[in-house]
Amino acid sequence: MIILDNVTKEYKQGHPALDRVSLHVHKGEFVFVVGKSGSGKTTLMRLLLKEIEPTSGRIIVNGYDYAKIKSRKIPYLRRQIGFVFQDFRLLQDRNIYDNVAFAQKVVEAPNRHMKRQVLNVLDLVGLADRLKAFPGELSGGEQQRVAIARAMVNHPLLLLADEPTGNLDPVTAREIMDLLDQVQKRGTTVVTVTHNKDLVNAMGRRVISLEDGRIEQDEARGSYDI
Ligand code: ADP
Ligand code: MG
Repeated sequence: MIILDNVTKEYKQGHPALDRVSLHVHKGEFVFVVGKSGSGKTTLMRLLLKEIEPTSGRIIVNGYDYAKIKSRKIPYLRRQIGFVFQDFRLLQDRNIYDNVAFAQKVVEAPNRHMKRQVLNVLDLVGLADRLKAFPGELSGGEQQRVAIARAMVNHPLLLLADEPTGNLDPVTAREIMDLLDQVQKRGTTVVTVTHNKDLVNAMGRRVISLEDGRIEQDEARGSYDI
Protein backbone atom coordinates (compact mmCIF):
# COMPACT_ATOMS: atom_id res chain seq x y z
CA MET A 1 0.00 0.00 0.00
CA ILE A 2 2.74 2.46 1.01
CA ILE A 3 6.36 2.24 -0.03
CA LEU A 4 8.88 4.89 0.92
CA ASP A 5 12.32 4.30 -0.46
CA ASN A 6 15.10 6.45 0.93
CA VAL A 7 12.93 9.55 1.15
CA THR A 8 14.47 12.85 2.13
CA LYS A 9 12.62 16.13 2.47
CA GLU A 10 14.52 19.37 2.98
CA TYR A 11 12.33 22.45 3.22
CA LYS A 12 15.47 24.52 3.25
CA GLN A 13 18.89 23.26 2.42
CA GLY A 14 20.96 21.65 5.10
CA HIS A 15 18.55 20.32 7.69
CA PRO A 16 16.23 17.63 6.41
CA ALA A 17 12.79 17.30 7.99
CA LEU A 18 12.90 13.67 6.82
CA ASP A 19 16.23 12.03 6.30
CA ARG A 20 16.51 8.89 4.11
CA VAL A 21 13.36 7.26 5.41
CA SER A 22 12.41 3.84 4.04
CA LEU A 23 9.30 1.97 5.10
CA HIS A 24 6.59 -0.36 3.88
CA VAL A 25 3.01 -0.44 5.08
CA HIS A 26 0.79 -3.31 3.93
CA LYS A 27 -2.75 -2.97 2.74
CA GLY A 28 -5.10 -3.04 5.72
CA GLU A 29 -2.44 -2.35 8.35
CA PHE A 30 -2.89 0.02 11.31
CA VAL A 31 0.23 2.03 12.06
CA PHE A 32 1.02 4.63 14.69
CA VAL A 33 3.66 7.26 13.97
CA VAL A 34 5.13 8.80 17.10
CA GLY A 35 7.97 11.17 17.91
CA LYS A 36 8.76 14.51 19.44
CA SER A 37 7.51 17.74 17.99
CA GLY A 38 9.61 18.58 14.93
CA SER A 39 10.65 14.99 14.27
CA GLY A 40 9.01 14.95 10.81
CA LYS A 41 5.61 13.31 11.41
CA THR A 42 3.50 15.91 9.62
CA THR A 43 6.04 16.07 6.80
CA LEU A 44 5.57 12.34 6.31
CA MET A 45 1.79 12.76 6.15
CA ARG A 46 2.00 15.67 3.71
CA LEU A 47 4.30 13.65 1.45
CA LEU A 48 1.80 10.75 1.48
CA LEU A 49 -0.97 13.17 0.52
CA LYS A 50 1.25 14.46 -2.28
CA GLU A 51 0.81 17.93 -0.85
CA ILE A 52 4.60 18.38 -0.96
CA GLU A 53 7.32 16.68 -2.99
CA PRO A 54 10.33 14.84 -1.59
CA THR A 55 13.78 16.30 -2.21
CA SER A 56 14.94 12.79 -3.10
CA GLY A 57 13.75 9.22 -2.83
CA ARG A 58 10.71 7.38 -4.05
CA ILE A 59 7.11 7.25 -2.81
CA ILE A 60 4.62 4.69 -4.07
CA VAL A 61 1.08 4.59 -2.68
CA ASN A 62 -1.46 2.07 -3.92
CA GLY A 63 0.63 1.47 -7.00
CA TYR A 64 0.98 5.15 -7.89
CA ASP A 65 4.60 6.20 -8.20
CA TYR A 66 4.41 9.81 -7.01
CA ALA A 67 7.27 10.99 -9.20
CA LYS A 68 5.63 9.61 -12.33
CA ILE A 69 1.94 10.19 -11.76
CA LYS A 70 0.37 12.48 -14.35
CA SER A 71 -1.28 15.56 -12.93
CA ARG A 72 -4.67 14.56 -14.32
CA LYS A 73 -4.44 11.36 -12.27
CA ILE A 74 -3.81 13.15 -8.97
CA PRO A 75 -7.53 13.65 -8.22
CA TYR A 76 -8.01 9.87 -8.51
CA LEU A 77 -5.17 9.32 -6.08
CA ARG A 78 -6.54 11.86 -3.58
CA ARG A 79 -9.97 10.24 -3.73
CA GLN A 80 -8.38 7.11 -2.33
CA ILE A 81 -6.88 8.90 0.66
CA GLY A 82 -8.92 10.21 3.59
CA PHE A 83 -7.39 12.77 5.92
CA VAL A 84 -8.20 13.73 9.52
CA PHE A 85 -6.63 16.76 11.21
CA GLN A 86 -6.10 17.64 14.85
CA ASP A 87 -8.37 20.69 14.55
CA PHE A 88 -11.23 18.91 12.66
CA ARG A 89 -11.46 21.53 9.85
CA LEU A 90 -15.19 21.30 9.29
CA LEU A 91 -17.12 23.86 7.28
CA GLN A 92 -18.67 25.99 10.01
CA ASP A 93 -21.54 27.29 7.89
CA ARG A 94 -22.76 23.85 6.83
CA ASN A 95 -24.55 21.24 8.83
CA ILE A 96 -23.17 17.82 9.61
CA TYR A 97 -24.88 16.11 6.71
CA ASP A 98 -23.56 18.69 4.25
CA ASN A 99 -20.05 18.55 5.67
CA VAL A 100 -19.89 14.87 4.82
CA ALA A 101 -21.89 15.14 1.59
CA PHE A 102 -19.54 17.85 0.39
CA ALA A 103 -16.65 15.35 0.30
CA GLN A 104 -18.84 13.11 -1.88
CA LYS A 105 -19.90 15.88 -4.21
CA VAL A 106 -16.28 16.64 -4.92
CA VAL A 107 -16.05 13.22 -6.57
CA GLU A 108 -19.40 13.69 -8.32
CA ALA A 109 -21.03 10.56 -6.94
CA PRO A 110 -24.54 9.87 -8.15
CA ASN A 111 -27.13 11.50 -5.94
CA ARG A 112 -29.14 8.49 -4.77
CA HIS A 113 -25.98 6.67 -3.69
CA MET A 114 -24.67 9.80 -2.13
CA LYS A 115 -27.41 10.26 0.38
CA ARG A 116 -27.34 6.66 1.51
CA GLN A 117 -23.56 6.70 1.78
CA VAL A 118 -23.55 9.86 3.88
CA LEU A 119 -26.19 8.45 6.22
CA ASN A 120 -24.28 5.17 6.48
CA VAL A 121 -21.01 6.74 7.57
CA LEU A 122 -22.72 9.14 9.97
CA ASP A 123 -24.50 6.16 11.48
CA LEU A 124 -21.20 4.33 11.78
CA VAL A 125 -19.66 7.19 13.76
CA GLY A 126 -22.77 7.42 15.94
CA LEU A 127 -24.10 10.75 14.69
CA ALA A 128 -27.11 9.70 12.63
CA ASP A 129 -29.36 11.80 14.89
CA ARG A 130 -27.34 15.03 14.50
CA LEU A 131 -27.55 15.53 10.74
CA LYS A 132 -28.96 19.05 10.99
CA ALA A 133 -26.59 20.28 13.69
CA PHE A 134 -23.79 22.71 12.84
CA PRO A 135 -20.18 22.05 13.86
CA GLY A 136 -20.33 24.81 16.49
CA GLU A 137 -23.12 22.93 18.26
CA LEU A 138 -21.05 19.76 18.67
CA SER A 139 -18.40 18.76 21.20
CA GLY A 140 -14.81 18.30 20.04
CA GLY A 141 -15.21 14.53 20.02
CA GLU A 142 -18.38 14.76 17.94
CA GLN A 143 -16.70 17.13 15.50
CA GLN A 144 -13.84 14.69 15.08
CA ARG A 145 -16.40 11.94 14.41
CA VAL A 146 -17.83 14.06 11.62
CA ALA A 147 -14.33 14.57 10.23
CA ILE A 148 -13.76 10.80 10.26
CA ALA A 149 -17.11 10.23 8.54
CA ARG A 150 -16.09 12.77 5.92
CA ALA A 151 -12.74 11.03 5.44
CA MET A 152 -14.48 7.65 5.06
CA VAL A 153 -17.35 8.55 2.81
CA ASN A 154 -15.45 7.84 -0.41
CA HIS A 155 -14.24 4.46 0.89
CA PRO A 156 -10.59 5.43 0.90
CA LEU A 157 -7.95 2.74 0.73
CA LEU A 158 -5.81 4.82 3.07
CA LEU A 159 -6.76 7.02 6.01
CA LEU A 160 -4.17 9.42 7.38
CA ALA A 161 -4.79 11.08 10.74
CA ASP A 162 -2.41 13.75 12.09
CA GLU A 163 -2.83 13.96 15.88
CA PRO A 164 -6.59 13.30 15.68
CA THR A 165 -6.95 13.19 19.46
CA GLY A 166 -4.63 16.11 20.20
CA ASN A 167 -7.50 18.40 21.23
CA LEU A 168 -9.59 15.80 23.05
CA ASP A 169 -9.91 14.56 26.64
CA PRO A 170 -8.67 11.01 27.37
CA VAL A 171 -12.09 9.32 27.28
CA THR A 172 -13.08 10.96 24.00
CA ALA A 173 -9.61 10.26 22.59
CA ARG A 174 -10.15 6.58 23.31
CA GLU A 175 -13.49 6.66 21.48
CA ILE A 176 -11.88 8.27 18.45
CA MET A 177 -9.09 5.68 18.41
CA ASP A 178 -11.68 2.91 18.66
CA LEU A 179 -13.39 4.43 15.65
CA LEU A 180 -10.13 4.46 13.66
CA ASP A 181 -9.71 0.85 14.71
CA GLN A 182 -13.14 0.08 13.22
CA VAL A 183 -12.20 1.92 10.04
CA GLN A 184 -9.20 -0.39 9.73
CA LYS A 185 -11.35 -3.46 10.41
CA ARG A 186 -13.47 -2.47 7.42
CA GLY A 187 -10.36 -2.80 5.26
CA THR A 188 -8.83 0.68 5.15
CA THR A 189 -5.12 1.11 5.83
CA VAL A 190 -4.80 3.58 8.73
CA VAL A 191 -1.76 5.69 9.62
CA THR A 192 -2.18 7.77 12.78
CA VAL A 193 0.25 10.32 14.16
CA THR A 194 -0.24 10.67 17.89
CA HIS A 195 1.31 11.75 21.18
CA ASN A 196 -1.16 9.68 23.12
CA LYS A 197 1.18 7.30 24.84
CA ASP A 198 -1.48 5.49 26.86
CA LEU A 199 -3.56 4.69 23.78
CA VAL A 200 -0.57 3.55 21.74
CA ASN A 201 0.48 1.23 24.52
CA ALA A 202 -3.06 -0.04 25.09
CA MET A 203 -3.70 -0.83 21.43
CA GLY A 204 -0.61 -2.95 20.74
CA ARG A 205 -0.24 -1.98 17.07
CA ARG A 206 2.74 -1.31 14.89
CA VAL A 207 4.60 1.80 16.05
CA ILE A 208 7.05 3.77 13.95
CA SER A 209 8.99 6.34 15.95
CA LEU A 210 10.69 9.22 14.27
CA GLU A 211 13.57 11.13 15.73
CA ASP A 212 15.01 14.13 13.99
CA GLY A 213 13.69 12.99 10.61
CA ARG A 214 14.85 9.39 10.86
CA ILE A 215 13.12 6.16 11.81
CA GLU A 216 14.40 5.37 15.23
CA GLN A 217 12.23 2.32 15.85
CA ASP A 218 9.67 0.30 13.92
CA GLU A 219 8.02 -2.47 15.88
CA ALA A 220 5.11 -4.73 15.02
CA ARG A 221 3.53 -4.55 18.48
CA GLY A 222 5.21 -1.43 19.60
CA SER A 223 5.11 0.75 22.62
CA TYR A 224 5.68 4.43 23.09
CA ASP A 225 8.14 5.25 25.79
CA ILE A 226 9.53 8.73 25.51
P1 ADP B 1 6.22 17.12 13.51
O1 ADP B 1 4.92 16.97 12.81
O2 ADP B 1 6.84 15.82 13.93
O3 ADP B 1 6.14 18.07 14.66
P2 ADP B 1 7.10 18.48 11.11
O4 ADP B 1 7.08 17.48 10.00
O5 ADP B 1 6.01 19.46 11.16
O6 ADP B 1 7.29 17.71 12.49
O7 ADP B 1 8.47 19.28 11.02
C1 ADP B 1 9.73 18.66 10.83
C2 ADP B 1 10.80 19.72 10.62
O8 ADP B 1 10.55 20.41 9.41
C3 ADP B 1 10.83 20.78 11.72
O9 ADP B 1 12.18 21.15 11.92
C4 ADP B 1 10.04 21.92 11.11
O10 ADP B 1 10.46 23.15 11.63
C5 ADP B 1 10.38 21.81 9.65
N1 ADP B 1 9.27 22.28 8.80
C6 ADP B 1 8.01 21.76 8.77
N2 ADP B 1 7.25 22.40 7.86
C7 ADP B 1 8.05 23.33 7.28
C8 ADP B 1 7.86 24.32 6.26
N3 ADP B 1 6.68 24.43 5.63
N4 ADP B 1 8.91 25.10 5.94
C9 ADP B 1 10.11 24.96 6.55
N5 ADP B 1 10.37 24.07 7.52
C10 ADP B 1 9.35 23.26 7.90
MG1 MG C 1 3.00 17.65 13.26
